[in-house]
Amino acid sequence: MFCPVCNGIKRVEVNCDKCNEAMNDCGRTLEWSDPYAPYEPVSISGSARNQIGDANCLHTALCPSCAHTIEVCISEWQE
Ligand SMILES: [Zn+2]
Ligand SMILES: [Zn+2]
Repeated sequence: MFCPVCNGIKRVEVNCDKCNEAMNDCGRTLEWSDPYAPYEPVSISGSARNQIGDANCLHTALCPSCAHTIEVCISEWQE
């Protein structure tokens, strides 16, 4: 199992829900550390957390236009 986004095979394909710009991957949400975060890491909502299993990788996507961030659940691929 591997995440195609972590491995650079795929881009996060999600649009900003505020301005509809294509968003950029900011890496795995769980690897975020405080020194680089402009504010407290977004707490993972119950519904998002429920989607995280062995087969999913949670990424943070950043809008280049308005700096809005969302969490995106990426399905990992079978090797
Ligand atoms: Zn990943
Ligand atoms: Zn935006």
